[in-house]
Parts: sequence; structure tokens; C-alpha cells
Amino acid sequence: MRSSSSRTAPPSPRAEPPERIAEAPEHASETAKRPTEAAERPTEAVERPAEVLQRQIETAERATEAPERQVERPRRTTETPERPPETPERPAARTYLWARQPTPPTMTLRLLACGAAALLVLAGCRVESRNAATVSPTATTDGLAVATREDSLLEARLAQYTTVRLDADLSALSDSTRRMIPLLIEAAKAMDEVFWMEAYPPGRDSLLGSLTSEAARRYVTINYGPWDRLAGNEPFLPGVGPKPPGSGFYPPDITEDELLTAADAYPDEDLTGLYTLVRREGDRLVGVPYHEAFAEQHARAARYLREAAALAQDPGLRRYLELRADALLSDDYQPSDLAWMDMRDNPLDFIVGPIETYEDQLFGYKAAHEAYVLIKDLDWSARLQRFATLLPALQRGLPVDDRYKAETPGTDADLGAYDVVYYAGDANAGSKTIAINLPNDEEVQLQKGSRRLQLKNAMRAKYDRILVPIAEVLIAEDQQEHVSFDAFFGNTMFHEVAHGLGIKNTVTGRGTVREALREQASALEEGKADVLGLYMVQRLIEQGEWEEARLMDHYVTFVASIFRSIRFGASSAHGRANLVRFNFFQEMGAITQTEDGRWRVEEEAMAEAVEALAGRILTLQGDGDYDAVVAFVEEYGVMTPALQASLDRVAAAGIPVDVVFEQGVEVLGLDPVGASR
Ligand SMILES: [Zn+2]
Repeated sequence: MRSSSSRTAPPSPRAEPPERIAEAPEHASETAKRPTEAAERPTEAVERPAEVLQRQIETAERATEAPERQVERPRRTTETPERPPETPERPAARTYLWARQPTPPTMTLRLLACGAAALLVLAGCRVESRNAATVSPTATTDGLAVATREDSLLEARLAQYTTVRLDADLSALSDSTRRMIPLLIEAAKAMDEVFWMEAYPPGRDSLLGSLTSEAARRYVTINYGPWDRLAGNEPFLPGVGPKPPGSGFYPPDITEDELLTAADAYPDEDLTGLYTLVRREGDRLVGVPYHEAFAEQHARAARYLREAAALAQDPGLRRYLELRADALLSDDYQPSDLAWMDMRDNPLDFIVGPIETYEDQLFGYKAAHEAYVLIKDLDWSARLQRFATLLPALQRGLPVDDRYKAETPGTDADLGAYDVVYYAGDANAGSKTIAINLPNDEEVQLQKGSRRLQLKNAMRAKYDRILVPIAEVLIAEDQQEHVSFDAFFGNTMFHEVAHGLGIKNTVTGRGTVREALREQASALEEGKADVLGLYMVQRLIEQGEWEEARLMDHYVTFVASIFRSIRFGASSAHGRANLVRFNFFQEMGAITQTEDGRWRVEEEAMAEAVEALAGRILTLQGDGDYDAVVAFVEEYGVMTPALQASLDRVAAAGIPVDVVFEQGVEVLGLDPVGASR
């Protein structure tokens, strides 16, 4: 499978489109090593795109006639991070994704209305893009005039996304560090070009050049091709066939048998390697190394990396950038991956190169190009490190019998908070990643561990645009003030830290928890991390370790997040885990329903429910009793009429599924490369 010599480096995880989940069995090995992360949070599931889309289309059709509906509430922003898909088959998914959500009809209406009355409404409609004299090519439906019926169908798809300006506070950076950013963005753009070739071999320009519809151009730009990444890659342009599952990595008619036979016959071609394209030459298959296939883009990116390295004040960062430049010219990424793990005090980070294999849905062998330009959030990163040191004491205080907390928690999680200022390539296609877990190279993981990067401003975008609108529909009015981004981000971070609590081995001689609980293991582990994250917040606040936190904010925001997660589908393992949580809390009186059908948190009961659920899950894990876990999930993982009614209200509210970023040096207020030289 993956040749170990060519492993990719640091890049990132992403949110994934549901489809991405399907394959990539090879990731499984990591799971074993890093059980906690593997599962990551379940993503909500993928939705049923067909129904969703049908609804959107209907909406779009209606919308064209009803521009005045635009009034709607002004939106706030919000977001939620998501996590990786559960997929049993691909346990190690390290990406977080936002699952998709159906576009709510009202959203569509609102966006269309914006378009129709663009000038009037822009300011109120999209706070972030106020200085948008220039609407970005991916500005969803803003400013788009409804023309043909075909356009209106595309606009329904576009309305699944909402545009957010990806800015960040650069004031803490030194001048030379700031000057590195445009260089890194240029290198990222080279990765973007390569990803286009991988995702759609005929190329971006030929496709965009053939389109006369602005809506089509925008949706193509978001998807890096004519297939809808939020709808199982179905074609959305007339005359386009299905997306080849192997994207542009292989000849479109290749079979597994043919590939594996050729791989055995010609091992030097590295046909199943991460960093080769497979092509036909006469009647045989050949492997074309990425550094040759994409020589121009790799060389350009390497030049920018070296220029940026020369400006780097942090020696670890300088070394990493130089080694990464070398890697782009040789396809040997391991030295740079190792250097990446050695960085400590770098104010910037840059994930670049061929990294994740989700774009290869045929075999999962080939890494796709992407890049993230990242700024480290030093305050949060320091806070996380401090909290990690409190884990042993928190472990001792867990609300469960001593037998179930006898292990020493790992405090080696390298967890950091970052703002992203640029997404490119695979990372920017369709759903946006909000957390990154790298490197993927197992050899590097064994030597150095791995690092998890939480993308704070990207989470904020999803929080503002998705979670807040859901809370506005479902949380009791007098508790809406408790929905906060700080609580949301804190809950997410503590979820990650909380994976280190509890035990990894059963106390009943059934081996590891993961082995004993089989396919139930990852959803239960994620459920554990969610509830123990909240438990940690309770404890830290009680102990005066986290003065600025407000417990009710964490509770109410947590409950709002449950709705967001369930919204993506109650049938998946992770959807059921959220149902379990919700029903358990309701049974304990921790959440109650108001007369108008909204939900409120009862603070004292919630504190007890958190401990009770934590104790229950820790016991189930420690016992390693598979049947008991199944029974627990069957008892609590049910959809109730009241909950279904709530989800229906969310569905009717027109809330977007994902975000698209306006990004680049202009958004950051930086000079483009070359401007000052
Ligand atoms: Zn997790």
C-alpha cells in the first residue's frame, strides 16, 4: 500500500465530504497507534443530498419570484467545527469536516434576495464582505442575477455555502514574519494549480473558459471541477459524466486488478505510491513522480519557500521550510515532516504539498496537493499546554470507581490553536477543514508523535454562520446569551484534551477498549471525549483554574452543538451518539423543553448529568462489554417526536451547510509579493 518512503507530511485533515470517507483503509494502522484521535468526532453525517437538493431547488425556483422575502434576520456568524467522519472503514480519519447540511430554504431565499437587490442589501446580508467592491469569484450567491432555470438550480447549490472573509490579527507578528505570509500564499497557489490538475485533468482554465454562466463558474470554483462535493460528486453541469473515482491520478478506465498486477510486475514504477501519477504508455502502466509531473509548480513553490525561509527568525521554522522546499523537488517528504514535528516556537506554520488521500476514492493511494498558511494563537496554545498538565489530577477526580481510572493519562498531546489565513487545493475544495492532524507518515509518528492544529478562525466562521442560527431557532430565548464562541471553542479543545482521560485497556481482561468494543468503540470514545470535555470545564472552573469561563455558556453551547450534529443524520454511529447524549440529558432533567418548543439547560441537573454520563461511559469502556454498549445505544439512541420536531424547525430555517472563504493578501491588508521589491 503506501510506500513508506513516500509519506506525506504534515498536512491536514479536513472536513470531509462524506464520500471521502469511504475508502482509505490504510489509515487504519494509525488508529491503532493513536486510538483517541482516530475517531475524532463524528461528523455529522452526511446528509441525504438528493432530498436536500430537491428542496433547495424548489426553494430557488420560488425564490426567483419572491425577492422581497429577503428581509429575514440579519445574520450573525458562527460556526462549528466538525470532525471527521466516523467511518468505521477509515478509522483514522483525521480530518474534521463539516458535514453537509441541507440548505435551508430560507437561506436560499435570503441569499437570492441579496442577489436580486444586491446593492441595497449587501451590507446587512454579509457583514464580512462589506468592503466588497470586488466580489470574489466564490462569493456564493452574492450579486448574482437570476437568469435561466439552470442558473437557479445552480444557485440553490451555491446557497449551501456562505462567504466569509478569512482575516486574522497579524499585529503580534514581526515585520519580517509578516513579509513571509505573501510568499507562503504564492507557494500555496502553486498547490492549488496542481490540485486542479488532479481533480479535473483537462484543467481549470478550459473549464471556466467554456462557461458563460456566472453561477456555474462560481460553483465550479468552489468544487474544483464540475462535480458537487456536497452531493456525492454528482455532476452539476449539463453533459458532464460521473467523476472518475480515481480523479486524475489514474487512467480513467483502470481496474484494481490491472493496477496491482502492474505494481507487482514493475515495482520501480511505484504505481501504488503516494507521490506518483499512474499513466498508460503503450500497453503498460507507468508511474510519473509528482516532482516531474508538476515540475513547474513544485519548483515555483520551492522558490517561494526558500525566500520565506530566509526571512524566518525562528530557526525551527526556517529549517522546516528549507526541507519542505527540498521535498517538493524530490518527493521525499520525511525529513521535512520530522523537522515539522521539531518546531516549537514558530509564530507561523505552513502545511504544503501532497498530503491527504481522500481525493483518490478509487484506491486511496494518492496524496492530493493542498496548503494552509497558519498563524499560531500563542495565548490559546499556552493555555492548552497548561491544561494538559492538569490531566493527572483530573483523572484522579473522575466520577467513577478507581478501577476505571487506574491508567496515567497521556499529557503528550501536541495541541495548538491557529488562525488560518489561506486555504489552497484539496483543503479548499468543498467543505472546509477546521482541524488538522499530522503528519500522516507512520514512521514520523512513531519517532515524534503527531500534532493537532485547531483552526480557530475557521471554527469561528462556522460557529457564526451555522451554530448561532441553529441556536436562535432552538434555544430558549433567555438562554441565548449563553451561546458563545469562546465556550464553543473551549468545548472543542477540551474534547481533544479529554481523549487523554479514562483508560485504554479494559479492566476485565478483554484487551484494549478498542478491540473489545469493535465498531462501537469509536463512537463511544467520541462520546466520552465530549462529555469529559465538559466535565473538565466544570472542574477547572470549580478549582479557579479558568476564571474567564462561564459554565452555563459551556452547557448551553454544548446543547446547541448537539442539534447541529444530529441535524446531519441520526442514523450514523455518531448521529446516534449525539442522540444518546441528548436523551440521557433529558432523562436526567438537564435539558427541558419550553412551551414554544425551545430547549433550556437546567444548570444543577446538568452538572449531575455530565458526571453520570461520564461515569456510565467510562464504566462501559472499562468493562469492554460489547453487548452492554449495544444495549445502551439502543436504549438512548432513539429519535423522539419532540426532537424530530426541533430538527424540522432547523431544516425549515435555511441555514447554510458550509463556508467559502474570501482570502489572500488583500484581505489581510498585506502587500502582494513583488509589490515592495
Ligand atoms: Zn475526538
